[in-house]
Parts: sequence; structure tokens; C-alpha cells
Amino acid sequence: MKLTFPVTRTTHPKQRPTDESQLGFARYFTDHMFVMDYDEGQGWHDGRVVPHEPILIEPASCVLHYAQMMFEGMKAYRRPDGTIQLFRPDMNAKRMVRTNERMCIPELPEEILISGIEAVVREDADWVPSAPGTSLYIRPFIFGDEVSFSVLPAKHYRFMIILSPTGSYYAGNDKGLQTTRIYVEDEYIRAATGGTGYAKVGGNYGGGMRASKNAIANQCKDVLWLDAREHKYVEEIGTSNAFFRINDEVITAPLDSGTILPGITRDSVIQLLKRWGIKVSERRLSIDDICAAAEDGSLKEIFASGTAAVISPIGTLNYKGKDYTVADGKVGEVAQRLYDDLYGMQTGKVEDYMGWTYPLDIKVN
Ligand SMILES: *Cc1c(COP(=O)(O)O)cnc(C)c1O
Repeated sequence: MKLTFPVTRTTHPKQRPTDESQLGFARYFTDHMFVMDYDEGQGWHDGRVVPHEPILIEPASCVLHYAQMMFEGMKAYRRPDGTIQLFRPDMNAKRMVRTNERMCIPELPEEILISGIEAVVREDADWVPSAPGTSLYIRPFIFGDEVSFSVLPAKHYRFMIILSPTGSYYAGNDKGLQTTRIYVEDEYIRAATGGTGYAKVGGNYGGGMRASKNAIANQCKDVLWLDAREHKYVEEIGTSNAFFRINDEVITAPLDSGTILPGITRDSVIQLLKRWGIKVSERRLSIDDICAAAEDGSLKEIFASGTAAVISPIGTLNYKGKDYTVADGKVGEVAQRLYDDLYGMQTGKVEDYMGWTYPLDIKVN
């Protein structure tokens, strides 16, 4: 069921960035945003599209102290014919249900998420960029804003959706995908079993910044996280899922530990590999096995998957002060093929043979 919401249009439309090669990530925000409130006893109410502007928040709001919040991340893409489409938004809605359940945040029905996105994207459809590699990043989030210092679930929440035209992750490189150098973090951890690793919540990322700083100090782009208990098994790369191809098997960490964020790109990669007849396993893999495979040449590829970059190939791992090069640091063939088909389907340039795209009833010139 599609829901409709009242719209208050901005009286001060912003200057839209004209050079789509300079968009960056979350540097610009569009003219409008979606807002909805939740009150105990009343449920979700008063969804509306309003101008994107700063909000007032009481300093004693619980989210500012105890971080009861969640977020999602997805994109809208402009097809060659000017229609706007989403990619598997039902999966974001389902993940949101699991995150909210973990955070004691009231469930947000799928039709509110998707109708809310459609309502705000409709107002800002001209902002969806069209240059290669670009898209409109969509950031839905919910936070508790009850005035309370009790460490208890809030009774009032706000749900918001903000939009940012986003440039190519591989900007400045006309050769397409590029490999990066990754720091294997063996001191700090991202998530432990029983914690919130599988949920998209702010606390996971605030706690991870110390490790990212380490990575950058070691000339690395990001962190490869190891498991919390033994610091032995590989988990995720930064805020993306991680895949390792050893000979003809592609391996990624299983979800059953509760420490892995179940990426929609991750799920799409697994489904595509299966369809292509490439062996893919969800199993634990130790960093020692990966280093040994790098040294004997059986490590063919490492890549990260996520909404931001789609597929991001890794050329070098830095572990305990030593560099391990993956297949001469070149972009792997599986990573390239995944990128081409996934990004192609998302932007409507490759036929969607998986039924993953979700066209909105919005068209721009
Ligand atoms: C969002 C996220 C991912 C990727 O999920 P997608 O749905 O593919 O964008 C992976 N790991 C972490 C920690 C994340 O926050």
C-alpha cells in the first residue's frame, strides 16, 4: 500500500552543484527531507516532507547521551530514460526491523519507509545525478528524543530521511575500479557476539574510529576487522562486507556470529556468484590462512561490498607490520564482473535479470 504525505516546499531552493564530478560523499544535501514522529500509545504519525534544515533538539534528549538510534543507507539511481529507481528497498526495510528490535526502537512498517522515500525523492528528483558512478544517497534514521537520563527505551522518536547527491567512489580515475591498501586491525574490535554488530547503529561506528585512525596512520584506506574473541577470523572491511577468493572459491564471513552487518550488496554478490556457477562459501576464514594463500599465490582476489562503492577491490593487506599483496595488486576478474552487473542493473544500463530494481513513479528529463 502506498502512503501519501503532506509537503511543505522550501521557499529558498539551494544552488544545485553543477559539476557532477565534484559531488564527493555527503557533501551536499537536497532541498527537502522526510520527518515522522512516534509517540507511545499513538504509534508513528504525522509523516511529512519539509525543507531540509537544522532541527531543534532538547540537550537532554536521550539519543545525545545513550545513543538509542539506528540508520539505513541506500541509493536512488537515474536510468537512461530519466526514471528513478531504488535497489532492493524491501531488504533495507527488513534489516531496519531487525535493527529496531535490537535497539528497542518501535518497528517501522515497510510501507512507511518506501512511501517516505518516494515522497521526498519526488520533491528532489532533479537532484538525482546522472554522470557515471553517481547516485542519490538516501539516509533514513530514527532516534529517541525523549527528555530523559534513564537508561530505558524512549517513549518518543523521530524518523527522518535525508538525501545527498553522491559522486563516484572512484572519482578522478577514468580507468574504473581501483585497488586499495587495507590495515588488518589486531587490537581493537568492531563487534562481539551478543552485541550490536549485525545492527546498523551509530555506536558501532563511533567505536570504530580509533581503528580507522590507525589504518590511516599506516597509509591504509581502511580496516580489516578480526573476530573479538581470538583476533583470528576475518569479519568486515571498514563499513563493508569482505570477500576472499582463494583459487576458485569465494569466501565471506557467516552471519551466525551476530557480528556481521548483513549487507544487501553482500547478499546480492552471493546470489550472483551462485547463479554464475562460482563456488561461494559463508564460512570462517583465518587471517593466517589468507596470508599463507597470498604467499603461495592461491589468493586471487579480495574485495569489499557495500552500497557506497558497490565493489571495492583490495590490492594489499598490511598485517603486523608486513605487506601481503593480492594477485600483484590488480583488480580481480570476479570483482570487476560483479561491479559491472550490479552497478549496471542499479542504473538501468544492464538488464535486471534478478528482479532487484524498484522503479519509482518519478521521471526527470
Ligand atoms: C552498511 C554496512 C555494510 C554494507 O551493507 P549494504 O547493505 O551492502 O550497503 C556492511 N558493513 C557495515 C558495517 C555496514 O554498516
